[in-house]
Amino acid sequence: MSDRIPLVDLAAQYRVVKADVDAAIHRVLDQHQFILGPEVEEFERAFAAFCGSSDCVGVASGTAALRLALEACGVSRGDEVVTVSHTFFATVEAILQLGAIPRFVDIDPVSFTMDMDQLETVVRVDRDEGRHLVKAVVPVHLYGHPADMSAMRTIADRWGLRVIEDAAQAHGAEWNGRRCGGLGDLACFSFFPAKNLGAYGDAGAVTGNDTRLLERVRRLRDHGRSGKYEHQESGWGERLDALQAAVLSAKLGYLEEWTAARRSHAASYQDLLVGLDLGLPKEAPEARHVYHLYVIRTRRRDDLRSYLNDHGVDAGVHYPIPVHAQAACQRFPWADVHLPHTVQAAATVLSLPLFPEMTRDQLVRIQTLTTQFLECRAVDR
Ligand SMILES: *Cc1c(COP(=O)(O)O)cnc(C)c1O
Repeated sequence: MSDRIPLVDLAAQYRVVKADVDAAIHRVLDQHQFILGPEVEEFERAFAAFCGSSDCVGVASGTAALRLALEACGVSRGDEVVTVSHTFFATVEAILQLGAIPRFVDIDPVSFTMDMDQLETVVRVDRDEGRHLVKAVVPVHLYGHPADMSAMRTIADRWGLRVIEDAAQAHGAEWNGRRCGGLGDLACFSFFPAKNLGAYGDAGAVTGNDTRLLERVRRLRDHGRSGKYEHQESGWGERLDALQAAVLSAKLGYLEEWTAARRSHAASYQDLLVGLDLGLPKEAPEARHVYHLYVIRTRRRDDLRSYLNDHGVDAGVHYPIPVHAQAACQRFPWADVHLPHTVQAAATVLSLPLFPEMTRDQLVRIQTLTTQFLECRAVDR
């Protein structure tokens, strides 16, 4: 019996980075500056350079990054923010934390990212009716594939919208040769351990090219401070800590290589699975997909997932319940929306294992099991 194939293998990754990460952690312990400080500043410089953005502000999580970025862009109680329901809950939670109102549009069924025509319609109606409540939009670069940022830019400029990228799954992804993280007014990253760049705890960042907005995020993350005991405004305690920053700096040096490995495994999956009765991921011509997740589609999703799980392969579902259908949202009128592609995606998506350290053997085993399942079930019918 061969070993289980996990969805993500953080143990295998640690074996690769151990010397660098252990040294980084000991450096912080010796310096004993644990909150902000030089390690955080060093990581902020390096990650801004990685994103091709002018600056980066390290924060405590991806969720904090979203809330602080929205607040810095002027989103407050009663404002509307357009986003998608096919995403991790935190995208919407950040909007709610500011007392703002999420307006959901459906996704494009191929890229799983925001349908830009629907965005345009929502904003046009808002302006035509003289409401002017829609202030910002949060496109999510889901699974590592960027939303259509060309259409996004045109619509945002036409209607005067702030654009906050949810790039939590898109470290190093590109649209027309430009990196996510510098494509909107601000961009939000998560370094949750299983993300493409992961800390050893919670961590996140806001990047962008607008110095004034980034300065506001920098102040908001640290109690609205302008001096040690001077507070310009009421902010939050959402700072990045030095241990996480040091771990992230150590790992950042590997990220390009890891992304190349993810893309190569995705290409292998494509070769191995093409021709089967499955929907496979597609990369738009403008996009560089970083495959945070390798997501296929099938009407027999639940059965295929059980079959793989029973045969030692940890397949997952991202995400089984759309945000607007979550129990937490049922008391709100904005949750009462018709989003057919979103509902369809939640019922049919399946994430196959994908991590840089995967072997050819593991990929082939997954192909064999998937083929067995599809063929034997085809005979059953
Ligand atoms: C992970 C994730 C977040 C939240 O990040 P945390 O660091 O866990 O707070 C937000 N949006 C998306 C799309 C994510 O995948």
